[in-house]
Amino acid sequence: MRRGRFAPSPTGLMHLGNAFVALLAWLQMRSANGCFILRIEDLDHGRSRAHFAEHILCDLRWLGLDWDEGPDVGGTHAPYVQSERINRYEHAIAKLSDLGLTYPCFCSRAEIAAIASAPHGWFSDEPRYDGRCWTLSARERERRAQQKSPSLRLRVPVDTTVSFVDRVLGPQIGRPCEGGDFVVRRADGVISYQLAVVVDDAAMEVTDVLRGRDLLASTLRQGFLYEVLDQPAPTYAHVPLIIDEHGRRLAKRDGDLTLQALRSLGVAPERIVGLLAHLAGLLEGPEPLRPQALIPRFQMSRLPASDIVWTAEHQAYLQPH
Ligand code: GLU
Repeated sequence: MRRGRFAPSPTGLMHLGNAFVALLAWLQMRSANGCFILRIEDLDHGRSRAHFAEHILCDLRWLGLDWDEGPDVGGTHAPYVQSERINRYEHAIAKLSDLGLTYPCFCSRAEIAAIASAPHGWFSDEPRYDGRCWTLSARERERRAQQKSPSLRLRVPVDTTVSFVDRVLGPQIGRPCEGGDFVVRRADGVISYQLAVVVDDAAMEVTDVLRGRDLLASTLRQGFLYEVLDQPAPTYAHVPLIIDEHGRRLAKRDGDLTLQALRSLGVAPERIVGLLAHLAGLLEGPEPLRPQALIPRFQMSRLPASDIVWTAEHQAYLQPH
């Protein structure tokens, strides 16, 4: 049986961009008679809030989405909240360390920004770490550890390539080393998204990952992690983002497009679902619908190739009637 998931981070209220991904991930599984999982990715305790997680569950239900496994309904792969799964991540880190692939990094954020080489290609939106702490002697590591707790990085060999066939974007190939050695555990002890998502998707036997295109480059790093942890990688579908007229993603700060705000204005969930389905190419024009009605219409090939621009007309369609 195919298994898919929606894995939100509870760092803000759900907005239309999140709802778009959730709806498509749900449709992908429901149209394949698969299992749909909800997982809360709350490892970043500085930014995650329990009340946002509650709002997310409530907003998803309000839209008409359901899940077979999740924090509230349980399931055979529980727990479904990442902060309750730390031992699994530590176990994976121990395995990576046994393979000789991890090293402590003492560089501060400012140092990394200063030494970073010009970012390019797949990882164009972040500074590339040059791996300088990899060569520290054992004695030097010990000395520095007395002054500062290090982050833990994963060594990514230069000759590694990762390839996959994205269900939306087609064949992809890239070298994870282009992004530099990446952090698997931060200096403050927080496990990185890259590691946690791979450990969880593998443990939860996820076969299909559908998520926003902003996470495309992460797939190279995650592909490398699947390889070294000796786990089969899922298939991927990176769906277009909803952006504003200036090319910026609809972000959590666009408060007027949160589901909470739309709901309190009196917008019916069916209108939101119908509009999102139209944006996904599943309906010629927007019409109010329950998600259930879209199951027979779901086709990944209908998704537009490029990002979707949110316009005043879309906004107007959502005005309460
Ligand atoms: N938790 C991540 C986010 O909210 C998504 C993880 C994923 O789908 O791989 O951006």
